[in-house]
Amino acid sequence: MMEEQVFDNLPLSQDSFRKLWQNVLIPSISTIPTWTNEPQEEWISDGHMDTLLNDQVLTEGFDENLFALPPEMSTEDGVTPLSSTVPVTTDYPGEYGFQLRFQKTGTAKSVTSTYSELLNKLFCQLAKTSLVEVLVSKEPPAGAVLRATAVYKKTEHIADVVRRCPHHQNEDAAEHRSHLIRVEGNQRAQYFEDPHTKRQSVTVPYEPPQLGSEMTTILLSFMCNSSCMGGMNRRPILTILTLETTEGLVLGRRCFEVRVCACPGRDRRTEEDNSTKTQNPTKQTKKRKSAPAPDTTSMKKSKSTSSAEEEDKEVFVLHVRGRERYDMLKKINEGLELVDSKTKTKVSVKHEVPVPSCGKRLLQRGERSDSD
Ligand SMILES: [Zn+2]
Repeated sequence: MMEEQVFDNLPLSQDSFRKLWQNVLIPSISTIPTWTNEPQEEWISDGHMDTLLNDQVLTEGFDENLFALPPEMSTEDGVTPLSSTVPVTTDYPGEYGFQLRFQKTGTAKSVTSTYSELLNKLFCQLAKTSLVEVLVSKEPPAGAVLRATAVYKKTEHIADVVRRCPHHQNEDAAEHRSHLIRVEGNQRAQYFEDPHTKRQSVTVPYEPPQLGSEMTTILLSFMCNSSCMGGMNRRPILTILTLETTEGLVLGRRCFEVRVCACPGRDRRTEEDNSTKTQNPTKQTKKRKSAPAPDTTSMKKSKSTSSAEEEDKEVFVLHVRGRERYDMLKKINEGLELVDSKTKTKVSVKHEVPVPSCGKRLLQRGERSDSD
């Protein structure tokens, strides 16, 4: 509640976050995960969002200082991040090739936990165990830990800390009863709450795979339903799993969405159906608008800017009846060109805008005022 009020007073920073977040979130959620097609992730695998941020700075005047501090620093040993820092949710396999894998449990009615590769989303029942397999390409340093943190997926909720609802907290006697995510079957699980951000997380020591196995398994359970009033309250969440050194330095990161519900199998089927249904029509409308249809895996940012530029460069011819009307429309067009040239030289240098000629030039981009 307190966080909500504080952030309500900061509409500007919320806006910047939203812009950034839309860009940051898209790849990890909408692409089909991760270890099956590494090339898709090359843009993030260097672990830097610099390119992203620089673009933002150019076009939005984004405050890069917001992200100057690595948010993955340890939360419990004094090297704490700024309390305004929002957890990073981009996948980052890192030097150790950190990957997650989920059991293929299908979508039968009885299933208590099932993972959708299509949506990069885990559907599970309240307090039921989900097996998450952790894979690394080489042995992490001694003392490495795995940390699980929950964060709200949507921009408007990101500032809120994910916690259990009052009802479920009250009927639980455990010391970490306010934590949504629990690690089961591990005596060495430790529960943390960041003193500044109040964000909660749980860690377990990374254990190398047992003989004859290629991966380590951790057992997660989620202790509220996504619909819990006073808790998640139907707000979708992401779970961030990080591989960290003892000092809290992040070696690898993986994110997936989680929905805690009564019927995971049914909900997964429904959401997968909806996603394939809604993805196809939008693809078609995009194709009509911009000549080269960007593939679905590309980032939203590059999609929108490139198609906008594409549209801007296209020249339309408009036949106008009557001199007077022609002159009027020409003036409007020249005005628009002038505005364009002023705004565009401000933002990007390379964008060249045709200078309006005063001759008998045909009206350019006349459709714009009609269609927009
Ligand atoms: Zn609850």
